[in-house]
Amino acid sequence: MNLKLPETSHPRIVILGGGFAGMNVALHLKDTDFQVVLLDKHNYHTFQPLLYQVATGGLEPTSIAYPLRKLLKKIPNAFFRIAEVQNIDTNQKVITTSIGELQYDILVIAMGTTTNFFNLPSDSTSKMKSLKSIPEALDLRSFLLENFELALLEDNENKKQALINIAIVGGGPTGVELAGAIAEMKNHMLPRDYKELDLSKMQVHLYEATGALLGPMTENSRIRALEYLQNLNVEVHLNTAVQSYENGILHLGDGHQLPTETVIWTAGVKGSPLKGIDQQYILPNGRIKVNEINQVEGLQDVYAIGDISCMITEEHPRGHAMVAPVAIQQGQLLAKNILKLSRQEKVNTFKYFDKGSMATVGRNKAVVDFPGKSVKMGGLLAWMAWMVVHLMSLVGFRNKLIVLTGWMYNYLNYDRVLRLIIRPSREPLND
Ligand SMILES: Cc1cc2nc3c(=O)[nH]c(=O)nc-3n(C[C@H](O)[C@H](O)[C@H](O)COP(=O)(O)OP(=O)(O)OC[C@H]3O[C@@H](n4cnc5c(N)ncnc54)[C@H](O)[C@@H]3O)c2cc1C
Repeated sequence: MNLKLPETSHPRIVILGGGFAGMNVALHLKDTDFQVVLLDKHNYHTFQPLLYQVATGGLEPTSIAYPLRKLLKKIPNAFFRIAEVQNIDTNQKVITTSIGELQYDILVIAMGTTTNFFNLPSDSTSKMKSLKSIPEALDLRSFLLENFELALLEDNENKKQALINIAIVGGGPTGVELAGAIAEMKNHMLPRDYKELDLSKMQVHLYEATGALLGPMTENSRIRALEYLQNLNVEVHLNTAVQSYENGILHLGDGHQLPTETVIWTAGVKGSPLKGIDQQYILPNGRIKVNEINQVEGLQDVYAIGDISCMITEEHPRGHAMVAPVAIQQGQLLAKNILKLSRQEKVNTFKYFDKGSMATVGRNKAVVDFPGKSVKMGGLLAWMAWMVVHLMSLVGFRNKLIVLTGWMYNYLNYDRVLRLIIRPSREPLND
């Protein structure tokens, strides 16, 4: 098969992935003398920071997605294809995809990350849920609700308890935000929907292998987030690694066990797999080593940006944080640098402009560290700041409007209106 792209005498830039990084390269190459080809396995951009709200019925999936074709519609020199990227041949400058092969002049790898279960055996991980995409968020939403439906019908008290116990693994922003959202469902929505169930018995556990939640944030914010979660009755277990998950029992490093049908893994990511790049340029966590202009070390016309790349500098000895602002800024700079290189001008190296970090724990509760980390904020003000930043960062006016009205409705009604089970029937439960 062939990708049926228009013939061109202009150099072709192929961008792999329409996330924050790839999207920004394409947008900043508008009206240039390049043919820009964007490939993604989905036909939409995903706003991952709000996936957890889709998974807990707070937002519609379409409000955090944006069609990539619509994004490119005002860029006449850009073309989009849905394709799963499989291999790169850097000698021949050809990439292999699920819909055929494509020649490039300049290649931009922006394929983000995938869930990292580290060394856990697949017997354990196959029954866990992860949260990296809209299909996964929808699957999790249905799965959570189905468990409550099943609990209603269950006579065996132990099985009933396992159906309403929730374990979240990983105390980073995703784990913290998800734990807070599920605790709020337990406090408000679930008792109204499942009045025959004794939801005072429902347990929400958050397991973190290190000694603190929200690792990169300030101690002040970490302690605040812990207190917020504890006030919501989330049982937070620090210094507690997961060892295995078998037959509906989660085994922890400290010897404890939790019977649960729901284990949500948010404990790590690794670079999306990509064949063809020499292993010497790939770090153990799957990220591709790049220099200070995001060029893959050793490969002249190949760049990697965003989460999949790792730029090791004195200031960032383990690479930059895997967050949206890094991906956006790298995408924007790379587009400018590609243009400069084409004009044989001097390029600029990447300097991250840190706008601070934030996480929300629930209604009126969030933590914010401002750049430099000397100023921190918590509570209602931080929560409002979190909402404004996320609203402004969403792609598309319609999405912003829908998210805002969804949030207002949920806030006023203590509700999660999208508690819908929509998916094919699931596998039977563990015995
Ligand atoms: C649940 C969650 C919550 C987060 N919360 C925050 C937050 O609050 N703040 C923040 O700053 N960051 C947050 N992040 C991180 C942030 O989303 C990432 O840093 C950012 O998305 C990285 O952008 P990217 O373009 O590098 O990768 P991505 O946005 O992941 O985009 C990668 C793209 O590549 C495509 N792709 C992957 N493999 C292939 C393939 N083989 N073939 C074709 N296409 C492929 C994918 O479909 C995707 O569109 C969160 C992430 C997650 C998962």
